[in-house]
Amino acid sequence: MGKEGELNLKSVFLPFLSTSHIIPLVDMARLFAIHGIDVTIITTPGNATVFQKSVDLDSSRGRSIRTHLVNFPAAQVGLPPGIEAFNVDTPPEMAPRIYMGLAILQPCFEQLFHDLRPDFIVTDMFHPWTVEAAAKLRIPRIMFHGASYLARSAAHAVEQYAPHLAAKSDSDRFVLPGLPERLEMTRLQLPDWLRSPNQYTELMKTIKESEKKSYGSLFNSFYDLESAYYEHYKGVMGTKSWGIGPVSLWANQDASDKAARGYAKEEDEEEEEGWHKWLNTKAKSSVLYVSFGSMNKFPYSQLVEIAHALEDSGKDFIWVVRKNDGVGEGEKFLEEFEKKVKESKKGYLIWGWAPQLLILENPAIGGLVTHCGWNTVVESVNAGLPMVTWPLFAEQFYNEKLVVDVLKIGVSVGAKEWRNWNQFGSEVVKREDIGNAIGVMMSEESEELRRRAKTLSDAAKRAIQNGGSSHNNMKELIRELNQIKLSKAHQTSSTP
Ligand code: UDP
Repeated sequence: MGKEGELNLKSVFLPFLSTSHIIPLVDMARLFAIHGIDVTIITTPGNATVFQKSVDLDSSRGRSIRTHLVNFPAAQVGLPPGIEAFNVDTPPEMAPRIYMGLAILQPCFEQLFHDLRPDFIVTDMFHPWTVEAAAKLRIPRIMFHGASYLARSAAHAVEQYAPHLAAKSDSDRFVLPGLPERLEMTRLQLPDWLRSPNQYTELMKTIKESEKKSYGSLFNSFYDLESAYYEHYKGVMGTKSWGIGPVSLWANQDASDKAARGYAKEEDEEEEEGWHKWLNTKAKSSVLYVSFGSMNKFPYSQLVEIAHALEDSGKDFIWVVRKNDGVGEGEKFLEEFEKKVKESKKGYLIWGWAPQLLILENPAIGGLVTHCGWNTVVESVNAGLPMVTWPLFAEQFYNEKLVVDVLKIGVSVGAKEWRNWNQFGSEVVKREDIGNAIGVMMSEESEELRRRAKTLSDAAKRAIQNGGSSHNNMKELIRELNQIKLSKAHQTSSTP
C-alpha cells in the first residue's frame, strides 16, 4: 500500500456513460487504489461490463476498489433495456433519452456521494453538476478530461478569439491564436458546435465553468508529451491540473490487466490466440495496426477504400473493423477481402473489439493508422510507434496537430472534414491518400519519425516511475487531498 493513503482517504469515481471515457477514468481510479486509496466507482450495469474484470483483478490483489451499480431508468425514458451508453451502436435518435436517463439518475448519484462519505470525488467532465454536489459536502471535486492539453488549449483559443470567423472559406486555413506554436486549421475541421452554436455549445460552456470551480482536473497525459500546452492551459484556465499518464501503462502492468481492459470476452480466447499467432510469424516493425477507436463506424464506401489502400500498400496489417447494419455489396466485398487476405496471410481482421494494448506492444507492429482518439495517441506513443493520422470527430483534429506538427511522429491522410461520432459525414478519404500516408510512414526515410516516437516512449515510461512527472503529480495530488482531510478533521475537533 502506498504511504500516501495512510489517512485512509476515500474516493468516489463517476465516469460518463461511454466506453471511451470510462476506460481512462477507470484506469485512473485503479491508480488511486494502487496508491492505497479506497475507491468506489459508480456506474450502471451495462457500463460496468467494460471494466468489471479489471476491478475484480485489482480487488483480488488486495486493493480497496469496488463498483457500485445503479440501474439505468431505461423504461422510464422509453429506451429498450441495455441501451444505457453513448456507444458505437447507439442509434442517434436515442441519445437525448440517454441524457434524460442521466438527469433522472442525478439525485441518486448525489445521494450516493452523501452516503458513501468520500473525502473527494473524481467525475467526468460531462457531469458538471457534481461540482455543486461536492461543494455541499465540502469535499473537492476533481474533473476528468478525456482530451489532451493541446486540444483543450486549441478549443479555448477558438472559443476566445473565434479566428475561424475571419477565414475566407470553410477550407481556408487560419492560425489558432495565442498558442505556444503556430498551428493552422480550417473551419471544416472544427466541431460543428464551435462553427455554429447549438445545445452542445451551451453544455461545453457549463463544463468549462464547472472546471473553473473544481479543485482541479486530471488528464491522461504526461509532461514531456505536451509540456508547453500543459503550462499554457493551466495559465489560461487558472486552474490546477495534473497529468498522470500514460494511465494505460501505469494501471495495466500485467498481461492479465491488458487482456481484461475493455470488452474482454471469455469466448474470445481462441480469437485472441489467432491474432497473436499470426502476428508472431511477422518480422519486427513490419505490421500496420489499423483502428478507429471505440465509437466509429464507416460507410461501406469508406471501408472499401481502406481495404484497397491496405492491399495496395503491400504491408501486412491488423484491421479492427465494424460492420454496418445494412447488408449488400459492401458486406460481400468485406467477406471476400477477409478470405483473400487470410489465404495470402497478408492481413488479419478483428471484428468489433481488439485487445489494443496487447497488440501495440507486440514487436511486429510497426505503426498505426488511427483516428487520433486521445487514448490511442497516448497508447501508441507509449509503444513508441509512428502514426498515420485520420481524425474524424470530437477533438481529434487538434490531436492530429500534436502528432504531426508538434511531435512530428505522424503522417496525415489529409482528412478535411469534422463530423459527429454518430454520423458518416460526407467525406470519403481515397485509397491513394491513405496509401501515400502509409507509404511514407512505413518507408525507410521515416527513420527520424521512428526515432522521435521511440524517444517519447522512453519518456512515457520515465513519467510513471518514481521521480517521474506523472508519478510526482500523483503523489502531490494525494498529499494535498490528505492535507484537506486533515485540516477538516482539525476544524471539526476544534469547533466547540
Ligand atoms: N480500444 C480497445 N480495443 C478496440 C477499440 C478501442 O482496446 O477495439 C481502447 C483503446 O485502447 C483506447 C480506447 O479504447 O484506450 C479508445 O479511446 P480513444 O480515445 O483512442 O478513441 P475513442 O474510442 O474515444 O474514439
